[in-house]
Amino acid sequence: MKYDFLIVGTGLSGATFAREMTNSGKKCLVIDRRKTMGGNVYTEKIAGIHTHMYGPHIFNTNSPMLWGYVNNFTPFNDYRHRVKCSQGGTLYSFPINLNTLEELWGDVDQDLLRKLNTEPKAGFENLEEYAIENLGEEIYRKFIYGYTKKQWGKEPRNLPALIISRIPIRKNRNDDYHKCIYSGVPKDGYSKLIENMLDGIEIRLDVDYLKKRDYWDGMAKVVVYTGPIDEFFNYAHGDLDWRSLRFDHEVKQAEWLQAVAQINYTDEEIKYTRTIEHKHFYKNINTPQTVITTEYPQEYNRGQEKYYPVNDTQNTFVYSQYKKMIDVSKYIFIGRLATYKYYNMDQAIAAALKVCNKIKDNI
Ligand code: UDP
Repeated sequence: MKYDFLIVGTGLSGATFAREMTNSGKKCLVIDRRKTMGGNVYTEKIAGIHTHMYGPHIFNTNSPMLWGYVNNFTPFNDYRHRVKCSQGGTLYSFPINLNTLEELWGDVDQDLLRKLNTEPKAGFENLEEYAIENLGEEIYRKFIYGYTKKQWGKEPRNLPALIISRIPIRKNRNDDYHKCIYSGVPKDGYSKLIENMLDGIEIRLDVDYLKKRDYWDGMAKVVVYTGPIDEFFNYAHGDLDWRSLRFDHEVKQAEWLQAVAQINYTDEEIKYTRTIEHKHFYKNINTPQTVITTEYPQEYNRGQEKYYPVNDTQNTFVYSQYKKMIDVSKYIFIGRLATYKYYNMDQAIAAALKVCNKIKDNI
């Protein structure tokens, strides 16, 4: 066979795998059904601004190794994510911190403050229970309920708490959206990161692996698949639930429009969840225009892009059925879509590296 590995997908997982195995002397071919590389981290330069075409991606991690790993391919800046919530026409500090409480209630009520749990415990049945227990009923109704229902198309009591537990709860005035030590975005955009990761590796874009599976399978000893697992098995156990999104990108004739990179709209009646002003990700940027992306959650139907797995009990069970079907002598499944996990970028890279290290041990 011509290649050691055929890697299906040029996202972070596929690019990490291809880079590592190429560095270990293996011959890799990377393919993607999109015309662009990078999966959902793909960025495009619009009006002089690196625009995150599939949602805001802020790389954050506690691992010096992973921070070093990505910076090795292209320099990252030290951007720290700032978000505000728009509720009932007023902007509030977010994630919940002392400023939010003051904006809500003027003086901070000690009883309400006591209810805030900055170190939430695990083991909650669902997202609603987690949020009410750790934030209190009023904050839950104002900032969580509407946003979550729009984002996931489900009642929060039917969603796992895991979805929201990554958002910090603070009793100080720190409004950093993430808890991680390292944070930033590539100075030259994520597309540059992927380009550099895949430098010197054979790539074919705009080709659909699943449409000519036998042909592609015949090219390599092992196939590394990063696409949706239910589609791979032709929906033999039924469709997994996914959440889809629609992005409206607009160039606006203004230098700046938002105070921060991201504004979340938490009212249920407003159909979009957030607006992103990409310029904020980059320091010392001086352009006459600005790019704003409005993000609309959408019901997923076959053929649409999948963005988020819905890791509730039923879907977790269906996924486990698919997982059993993988012929591990020929296929490796990695990444958000193939392993049905709500990975952050650092987790996706770490998972791909782990698989690579196991293979390297046996080379
Ligand atoms: N969330 C919310 N209100 C907000 C922001 C987040 O209720 O203003 C909840 C919502 O359920 C969301 C989850 O927290 O899906 C995780 O939010 P995050 O911003 O981390 O999501 P991502 O950027 O991955 O879409």
